[in-house]
Formats: sequence, C-alpha cells, structure tokens
Amino acid sequence: MRSVSVFGATGSIGESTFDLLMREGGPRAFRCVALTGARNIKRLAEMAQALQAEIAVTAHEECLADLRDALAGTGIKAAAGQAAIAEAADRPADWVMSAIVGAAGLVPGLRALRHGGTLALANKESLVTAGPLLLATARQYGATLLPVDSEHSAVFQALTGEDRSAVERVIITASGGPFRDFTREQMAAITPAEAVAHPNWSMGARISIDSASMFNKALELIETREFFGFAPDQIEVLVHPQSVVHALVGFCDGGIMAHLGPADMRHAIGFALHWPRRGAVPVERIDLAQIAQLSFEKPDPERFPALRLARDVMAARGLSGAAFNAAKEIALDHFIGGNLPFLAMSEVVEETLARLSRQNSLGIAVCTLEEVLSMDHLARKAATEAVKSWQQGN
Ligand code: NDP
Repeated sequence: MRSVSVFGATGSIGESTFDLLMREGGPRAFRCVALTGARNIKRLAEMAQALQAEIAVTAHEECLADLRDALAGTGIKAAAGQAAIAEAADRPADWVMSAIVGAAGLVPGLRALRHGGTLALANKESLVTAGPLLLATARQYGATLLPVDSEHSAVFQALTGEDRSAVERVIITASGGPFRDFTREQMAAITPAEAVAHPNWSMGARISIDSASMFNKALELIETREFFGFAPDQIEVLVHPQSVVHALVGFCDGGIMAHLGPADMRHAIGFALHWPRRGAVPVERIDLAQIAQLSFEKPDPERFPALRLARDVMAARGLSGAAFNAAKEIALDHFIGGNLPFLAMSEVVEETLARLSRQNSLGIAVCTLEEVLSMDHLARKAATEAVKSWQQGN
C-alpha cells in the first residue's frame, strides 16, 4: 500500500489532494503518514480521521490543545510548531504533497526528499528560494520531484519523450487576473477584497492576490528556470484570459506542443499522483467548440513590473530568489493589512533587492539551507524598512 503525506492539507491544494485521495479509496488505498495545517484545526482533524493519519500537525503551538481535543480517542498523534512539521517530514512516505504556502514550505520539502520517494511540489516558493539546493537534494537521495503548478505540470507533460536539447523556448500562460485591462490609475485604488477574486481559478487568498499583481507569474518564471534549467531568454509569458492552454513548448523544427486542461488543480495533482502512468481524474472535460476562441497577448511590463523583477532574479540567481520571495511576502502582508497600496508592492520588492544588492548580499553562487534562511530573514527586515520608507515618503 502506498504511503502518503500532505503538507498544507487544509489549503486549496491540500483540499484538492484530499479529494483525490478519498476518491481513490482513502485509507483502504493509502497509508496516510502525516497531514499538516495551520489555523484550520477542525478541518485538519476531520481530514486526519478520514484518512486515518498517523500524525496531524499544526504550525501554531497555541492551536495544539484544540487539535488534541479534536483528535481525542482516535489514536492519531497531534503535534505543533515548525519543528514538528519538519519532524513529520522525517517520517518516510512514498508520495508527499508539498502545499504549504510561502517559504515555510522549504524545510519540510527538503526533509521529505531524504527518503527518496516522490515530492509533488505545489510550493513554488521552494524552487524560487532554493532551487539548486532542492534539485541537488533530490539527486543525492534518488528522490523524484514532480511539478504541481499547472504551468509546470503542463511543460513537464509537453516535454515527455522529447529531447531537451531540441527545445527552443517555453511559454507559460497567465490569465491576466482581474485587473488585466485596468489602467495604472485604476490599479492604484485596488483593495485586497478585489484582488482576491480571481476570474478563472479558485485558490488560496495569497496566491490569488499574487496572480492579480502577476507576482505569481514572476515566481513561476523563476520556477521554470530552476526546475527545467532553461535559459532565461528561452522562457516567455503570454497573457491568455481563457486559462485553457497552460504552457507551450517550442522545438527547433518550429513545432509547438501545447498543453490544454481545465482550470482545476486536480488535473495537475492527479497527474503527479498517478505518474508515471495516467489515471482517471474527475475534472470537467474541455469543450473547445463552446470556448470557441483562445487568445494570447504580451503582458504589459509597465502595469505588471513583477515580471521585470523576476527577469533580474533569473539573471542573478544565487540568493536573489530568496530575497525576492521574502520581500514579496512582506509586501503582500502589508497590502492585505491595508497598509500598502497594490502598486507599491512591486516598489517595495524592487527597493529591497536594490538595498541588499548594494550590501553585496545577493551574489552567492552555491547556497546552503542556512544561507537561504539567513537571506530570507535579512530580506524580510529590509522589506519591512522599505515599507516604512514608502509610507513616510507618501
Ligand atoms: P492556501 O493558503 O489555501 O493553503 C496553505 C496551507 O498552508 C494551509 O494548509 C495552511 O493552513 C498552511 N499554512 C499557512 N501558513 C503556514 C505556515 N506558516 N506554516 C505551515 N503551514 C502553513 O494556499 P494554496 O493551497 O492556494 O497554495 C499552497 C501552495 O501551492 C503555494 O505555494 C501556492 O503558490 C501553490 N500553488 C497553489 C495553487 C492553487 O491553485 N491554489 C496553484 C499552484 C500552486 P491553514 O489553512 O490551516 O491555516
């Protein structure tokens, strides 16, 4: 029986993963090792009971008593804190879903790779902050890293059976989010409630806002570079409002392989769950005649500067991905808290990268986990100062 763990089980990706695991037989088909969450204790306990998990872990110590109460009499262990999440990743499992949001997903992912199983990677921040380290760890322990982000799953699928050296370019698509047609003046007044409402995908709040600002696409550009190893100038972004084509791979003979799929993450999760075979997944089938039209356009770098910043990170590599992600997370926290306007998020990230670059902090080529975590800490401090400077100047 295959053993599985889900990190970030109570989130949007975690729920979709749980749905697929339950449809495929739940505890009759899988031995569930660990499930983790943060604040949603009730749901974490329900899932742990449904999958008969060995252990359920919340990220927050203050939630442990509630989790223990919710699991009383079930025989399922309860634990709390980031160290407990990392320890849960030390428990061997054949298939592990990495779906914690943010840089907090990095350490559990790295620890899970040490068992040589499969890590299904939704947590793109791991690749952005520490791509070379993640790939080297997978190689060292003979583990398999599978992309779960829809664009990267699409590229992975389009590359299957192909000669990598014949690839000329990779195009990942972006829906353009709710503000695709907004002017900069209109964008200045965007509220968190407006930014969280994505037109095509149902996702967690943070990634939804990142999609609206195109910071999500910026992270995905870096993720494409790190995961597949293509040069930055081989990777393009096209705005495709219908969200039907997720990625395209262009080859040296002029042919392009496009991947089409429904806007339902269970396709990419199911692909990673069944890989290397294909298994049935209960997503809606695309009706192209009904969709009728697929359109593509270049993104506007003036209104979405996150893409330009990602290009700088792709060129610099080293610790700049860790700095970029941490600065983005701080800017996002302040936007959600109502302390920073939508457009100022990219200004804060740019200013943070400039400050750290002036201190020569970014140019380390080979990064250890300690260096990545220390840059994450440094960049959060620098970004907080950049937010303060922005507030004082405006
Ligand atoms: P959600 O916000 O919906 O869920 C995040 C999960 O992480 C929840 O289980 C949450 O617990 C938990 N969590 C939150 N903070 C912490 C923390 N500090 N430490 C440990 N666990 C924490 O996110 P999504 O499911 O939308 O996204 C998860 C990851 O997948 C992200 O990296 C995202 O970029 C990526 N992704 C998501 C897609 C989507 O469609 N949603 C598509 C492609 C990639 P709780 O809810 O209990 O508080």
